[in-house]
Amino acid sequence: MCHGYIYITGKTNRKYRISNMRRRERGATNHSLTDSQIFPTVARYAIYHIVTLDGGQLTVSKLRDIMLENPQLTSLSIDDLLRILGKHPEMFDLEETDRGKSQSNVVLAFELQICDQPKKCGGYPTCKDMHICKYFLQNKCRQEQPNRCQFGHYLHSEHNLPILREKYMDNIDPRKLKEWIQKHHNRLFWTSRPPQVCTYYNTAGGCSKNDTCQFLHLCSYYIRRSCKFDSKCSRSHALKSERNIEILREHGIDIERDQDEIIDILNESAT
Ligand SMILES: [Zn+2]
Ligand SMILES: [Zn+2]
Ligand SMILES: [Zn+2]
Ligand SMILES: [Zn+2]
Repeated sequence: MCHGYIYITGKTNRKYRISNMRRRERGATNHSLTDSQIFPTVARYAIYHIVTLDGGQLTVSKLRDIMLENPQLTSLSIDDLLRILGKHPEMFDLEETDRGKSQSNVVLAFELQICDQPKKCGGYPTCKDMHICKYFLQNKCRQEQPNRCQFGHYLHSEHNLPILREKYMDNIDPRKLKEWIQKHHNRLFWTSRPPQVCTYYNTAGGCSKNDTCQFLHLCSYYIRRSCKFDSKCSRSHALKSERNIEILREHGIDIERDQDEIIDILNESAT
């Protein structure tokens, strides 16, 4: 027993010496791990705190304090963290303040993207956008049975989990994640393309989705400025109806603009 103990100690000492050598070789962190080996742990801690501890900013110095919980990383310095985070501009931004580098705020440099064609996109890994209903995220989906909504109401679905894992977000409670998206993710509710006029609405049968339709219920001739019926038209010419305003806003269109300008935007996008 006694021998065994000494042997283990000896082994530990040898390891320690090796890690010191590595430190000199790499001139990097104060332990044997490389920056790229440490990054996933740093990213997990940072993202977890940014998302779940709402209120207040996550400074680099606060992140370092939090990381001290991890016995492997007690020697990680503020400079190590600044360097490691700085190597991943696709994940993190460091917002400098006038209180020195250690008080820089760690913020996320990305937003989760939402797939607008979850039935046709081919799924993960072809599609790395979240399959989630935007209305569900805003607590506004009119489909009350979650498994019936074609856009999905599960942040931890089979499709979404690997995407969240790549972003180091898969260990976050989905309710917390949803709250955070609601508060901090405004662009999520916009798609870059202007909305389209509903093709079903413009057929004899009409569109059965009414207010749940994601497309504009408007006379397509009116939008092309070629409707001959004016006020006698059986289809809507009300660009700024309550539902259309919602849709235009979700596509990032300023609804204070005048009707003509908005119609121009809609026509530019129509192919
Ligand atoms: Zn997709
Ligand atoms: Zn839904
Ligand atoms: Zn429709
Ligand atoms: Zn018309």
